Amino acid sequence: MPCLIIRLYGIVQGVGFRPFVARTARSMGVLGTVANKGSCVEIFAQGEKEVLDRFVYAVKNRAPERAAVISADVRQVKDKSFDSFEIIQSEKEEGAIFVSPDIATCDKCRRELFDKNDRRYLHPFINCTQCGPRLTILEAMPYDRERTTMKSFPMCPDCEYEYTHAHTRRYDAQPVCCNDCGPQVYIVHREIKGGDAITFARKSIMEGKIIAVKGIGGFHLCCDAANEQAVGRLRKLKNRPAKPFAVMMKDMDTVERECHVLEGQKEFLTGYQKPILLLEKKEEGELCPGVSPDNPTVGVMLPYAPVQMLLFDYPDEVKMTDCLVMTSGNVSGAPICRNDEDAQKQIGSYCDLMLSHNREILIRADDSVMDWFDGKPYMIRRSRGFAPLPVMVSKEKEVTSLAIGGELKNTFCIGKNRLLYLSSYVGDMADIRTVNALKESVGRMQELLEAQPTICVCDMHPKYNTVTVAQETGLPLVRLQHHYAHILSCMAENDCDEKVIGVSFDGTGYGTDGTIWGGEILVCDTHGFERSASIKPFKQVGGDASSKEGWRIAVQLIRDSWGEKAQKVCSELGICDEKTFKLQSVMADKGINTVTSTSAGRLFDAVSAILGIRRSSTFEGESSMSLEFAAERFEKQQAECEKTAARINGSGFETIDTTSLAGEIARRFIDGESAEKLAFVFHTSLADGIVRCCESISRKTGVKKCALSGGVFQNKLLLRLVKQQLRELGFEVLIHSLVPANDGGIALGQAYYALCNCNNE
Ligand code: ZN
Ligand code: ZN
Ligand code: FE
Repeated sequence: MPCLIIRLYGIVQGVGFRPFVARTARSMGVLGTVANKGSCVEIFAQGEKEVLDRFVYAVKNRAPERAAVISADVRQVKDKSFDSFEIIQSEKEEGAIFVSPDIATCDKCRRELFDKNDRRYLHPFINCTQCGPRLTILEAMPYDRERTTMKSFPMCPDCEYEYTHAHTRRYDAQPVCCNDCGPQVYIVHREIKGGDAITFARKSIMEGKIIAVKGIGGFHLCCDAANEQAVGRLRKLKNRPAKPFAVMMKDMDTVERECHVLEGQKEFLTGYQKPILLLEKKEEGELCPGVSPDNPTVGVMLPYAPVQMLLFDYPDEVKMTDCLVMTSGNVSGAPICRNDEDAQKQIGSYCDLMLSHNREILIRADDSVMDWFDGKPYMIRRSRGFAPLPVMVSKEKEVTSLAIGGELKNTFCIGKNRLLYLSSYVGDMADIRTVNALKESVGRMQELLEAQPTICVCDMHPKYNTVTVAQETGLPLVRLQHHYAHILSCMAENDCDEKVIGVSFDGTGYGTDGTIWGGEILVCDTHGFERSASIKPFKQVGGDASSKEGWRIAVQLIRDSWGEKAQKVCSELGICDEKTFKLQSVMADKGINTVTSTSAGRLFDAVSAILGIRRSSTFEGESSMSLEFAAERFEKQQAECEKTAARINGSGFETIDTTSLAGEIARRFIDGESAEKLAFVFHTSLADGIVRCCESISRKTGVKKCALSGGVFQNKLLLRLVKQQLRELGFEVLIHSLVPANDGGIALGQAYYALCNCNNE
């Protein structure tokens, strides 16, 4: 009988793929073996030719739910003969490696969790071949129990039986365990364990307490989302006055009671990745306002770990809330805590007690956060459930690179030929703990992916901590301009290797001329860029402070557009008094603590201050978000209104005259038009300026493809206006979906650059 060797590449490890192959083979009478090879699943299959055809089709196309076969390689072999079909132990082999992200508890496990007659009734670690932790407990590839942190929990005979028998749901499920042999939950520093610990935690939450809960990728801080006092206290303790908290809701019914759910969103909420989705709140909902103050949306997720399900639902006397605040258990800016010691040191003072467990977390995974645009996900933070799935591009080349990412919202990326493995979220590099976490994660991921980078890509900024980390690797460095990296990341996500007009509207990045850039239009391909346009430069006074204090930028924009009347306008708008105005002017004129900037993010903050919407921010993006919300409120009431022209100057390098635009907005506000209307006018006018700039550049270069990236494109109103108009003019428009437009996507762009321009030495 003929025999085939079939190699399947893709997400084929840790998703029940080998058992699926074995079952399929046995049901068809195919003989042979299946093995994890680290980079692929390798199958020997012996049978009649037409049976083998059907078998190959089945393993390629009927893979289990979480699996994804990306490519298959089928060849004839001679001199092989089998008398049964068996799964054989893992061997190691070099090649492309796909590490599975963690998978939310599946419906079958959930049913067993609450089934009194099941032997895993209420087991906080229930999982199966289709679900459970993966990346976060993985020490090395291939994915086998002995290489996970489950190795410290020897299986009981019953679990062992399920693990080794193909007809069970837990055949080959590496983290399999039960009430007898699995890990255990407990309250830290108290003699309370198991079910009592869960009841104690539930009771405490309902008494208004704040608890820390260890989950899959780290700790959460948790309290009743309907209890204004508890939420307020958590805000005080965490020193987080306004930034929205994510809410975990018991089930879909609760979500639909609290929020408007759009078509397609339900699938993502209930899917196996369980990200946080930003949803529009319903007015009659029960969440207290403190959860996401002055914000029409709230981040919502469903429980994805059994312990979270038990918090909502447990056979005890506690009458439980169905909405829990679940915010990352970390000090603002530092990485999420992943063990008791960490948690006690860093977030011990933020909470009243800690519900922990003794299964070790090796790799942190924050919750992924996504917004929604045009019927599709629009990623804000790509982490648990998504990382470290690679982005695959068509460009074929042998190069292994380490892209170290940006300074804020850091992620890094390991490029192995055409596979670009974007990491989980690491955090903001201003905190030394985050820098250490970055170094550690880079080491771990290199091991897991068996990658030995020969080149390191980093930002151009002279003072970034990421650049220091890059230098410490000792690898040859490539320094890439920040906004070019943004555009490259959008190109990589869309597998684009052509010339594009890249609209990079962003917070801040170091420009090639030593000034701060942020509202840029670049003509670029995968080899380089030319800066073709920007918004009009302004003076950014006050160094770091100015990134949260939009009023400082407002002062300069008004000075530039109003000249001698500026001081009067500033006090009329309540931006600042005469004394402050003078101080700001002197600093700007003498260049004291002042940089020249084209930051689009800061421009939004400034307009927000001019319109009296928000003078300064308590978290990054607060002012500009409020500006967007105001504009959207206006748009809902009234579709049309006249724009204020954002003039374009210049024939070679173009400038969008956003300074005059801001000045004009100020005038119309003083003349009595509403802030909401003018917020909308600002958006449409800016979009107009961007689009006309692209048009003009296109006329000169012939490029008809635009890529939109940078943190400002988290603003969906601006994104929609720009995209729509460009499309109407016949442009092809590339935008992000599963990779963030913000700095969380930078590393992907850096790795794509290395692939296209560097060689292994
Ligand atoms: Zn399951
Ligand atoms: Zn067991
Ligand atoms: Fe950026």
